[in-house]
Amino acid sequence: MSEVSVTKDAAPAADALVVLSKVNKHFGALHVLQDIDLTIARGEVVVVIGPSGSGKSTLCRTINRLETTDSGSITVDGRPLPQEGKELARLRADVGMVFQSFNLFAHKTVLENVTLGQTKVRRKDRREAEAAARSLLERVGVGGQADKYPAQLSGGQQQRVAIARALAMDPKVMLFDEPTSALDPEMINEVLEVMQQLARDGMTMVVVTHEMGFARSAAHRVVFMADGRIVEEARPDQFFSNPRSDRAKDFLSKIL
Ligand code: ADP
Ligand code: MG
Repeated sequence: MSEVSVTKDAAPAADALVVLSKVNKHFGALHVLQDIDLTIARGEVVVVIGPSGSGKSTLCRTINRLETTDSGSITVDGRPLPQEGKELARLRADVGMVFQSFNLFAHKTVLENVTLGQTKVRRKDRREAEAAARSLLERVGVGGQADKYPAQLSGGQQQRVAIARALAMDPKVMLFDEPTSALDPEMINEVLEVMQQLARDGMTMVVVTHEMGFARSAAHRVVFMADGRIVEEARPDQFFSNPRSDRAKDFLSKIL
């Protein structure tokens, strides 16, 4: 039946930007990623959901090599992940990441936060980098905060700065690991709106989130993980109306 078929193979291989194949990862005895096969197409928005401890953060962290893997392969834009040095810094620039805890440099201004990687890793000159930073800060709605320090901003503003900082590197793909989970409820939407706009602009995105409204409206595909495995993947309308696995049914019954 086509209406419940997975969209796994919807992306033509030529358009594949991030490809994980048979990726395995252990933490000691814990098999945290088990035979993960996942292809993310250019321009695709993939939302990853699943119970706590299912391996969602580890999955994100392996894609920009904050975690190593035990076996399998990962490529970004056709190239295997580099091991170290400048190549690794470039990979981290190509694969932007936004964390739950904003992780801004506390002792640098907002503008410096968004300028630094551009000059250090992308080798842009300072004026060009600052101009790009100001334009990005405007785009995420914090143009007026450029000279402040992170602690002077609300959580929602800090997270939007973190998004601008990642975007300043001209990433090929953006990873978001529960970007709104640490925010007060009234600030969640301002961050989700920035992410929605990015998705509309065609950014390739992997988003771990419990915000099912975002998943429904922005995701091309929902990937459901449990116990280190991808248990199910489908278009959001299919996944939410007709989850196939018991694990997904159980998960959705608890959160919806
Ligand atoms: P999720 O993001 O889905 O909640 P994680 O990827 O953070 O899951 O974690 C998956 C499992 O791996 C959990 O059981 C977690 O406790 C464990 N884990 C995560 N990071 C580490 C680590 N650095 N060392 C040991 N165990 C870890
Ligand atoms: Mg996590």
